Amino acid sequence: MSSHPPLLVIGSVAIDSITTPFGSRERSLGGSGTHFSVSASFFTEVGVVAVVGDDFTEDDAAVFRERRINTESVERIAGGKTFRWAGEYGFDLNTAKTLDTQLNVFADFKPRLSEAAKRTPFLFLGNIQPTLQREVREQVDARFVAMDTMNMWINDTRDELLKTIAVVDAMIINDAEARELAGEPNLIRAARKILGWGPQMLIVKRGEYGAAFFTRDSYFATPAFPLESVFDPTGAGDSFAGGFMGYLAHADKIDETTVRRAVIYGSVMASFNVEEFSCDRLRRLKPEEIRERFHQFKQFTHFEI
Ligand code: AMP
Repeated sequence: MSSHPPLLVIGSVAIDSITTPFGSRERSLGGSGTHFSVSASFFTEVGVVAVVGDDFTEDDAAVFRERRINTESVERIAGGKTFRWAGEYGFDLNTAKTLDTQLNVFADFKPRLSEAAKRTPFLFLGNIQPTLQREVREQVDARFVAMDTMNMWINDTRDELLKTIAVVDAMIINDAEARELAGEPNLIRAARKILGWGPQMLIVKRGEYGAAFFTRDSYFATPAFPLESVFDPTGAGDSFAGGFMGYLAHADKIDETTVRRAVIYGSVMASFNVEEFSCDRLRRLKPEEIRERFHQFKQFTHFEI
């Protein structure tokens, strides 16, 4: 029996086109599966389930190879085109405006997992069609499953999305998505409503304001790392989820103390990711830089009573 990494993600592997107030990049490797796995790879071995086309280059593949990410479940479709997303940010870097989404090879994707992948203990359903997320969830006998989504799926495929939410342990979504999904402007009430649909945990990402963690009977919140220059917010959410899930898979437990640390590791990884375009900053990141920011978080959130 072959072994599989302890963490698996299904999500988009994308070619993005990004405009921020500081510059633009026409062809930027992105996607939820990409940003998640690159981030998680600093904590544990991780595998990706995705599909790409002929336009996925050797340079793109190198990003996964450098981080030793398992790509045995990344299918390549001859004659197909990779998922494409074009997005733009104004001075409020917390909100991306989608200019264009082309599912391309993801439109007909039927994920087929190896027997080893089906036994992965930690599974992340990255942002992609909720039906695809559920197809993977049903194949994997995981111990802990978390998911993300976005406004496009909340609006266009709500019923499918609710079915997926019912079969996960945790949801990791951003502030605006939580309110929209719950149809509830108050975040605390929105969290309670979402937790009522099945997940035991909800993590709400709040961009430059940090992240909040809810269960039915506990609450934890952290600010974001105080950065002076945010260059490209794309992938912040997925890098957060990668740090969070990567740390849990590495620790191999899911108690309150471990989950709180995982929220901080998620915040650390997101803070690095936004410093440069695509995965550029994470490609040069050193483990000691992660440790240093983790300790800085402890300092700036600590107070005596
Ligand atoms: P985030 O971490 O939330 O900033 O996610 C950024 C990534 O999400 C980008 O690299 C996009 O390629 C990807 N993305 C955007 N829209 C979608 C979508 N509808 N489904 C899957 N992935 C998407």
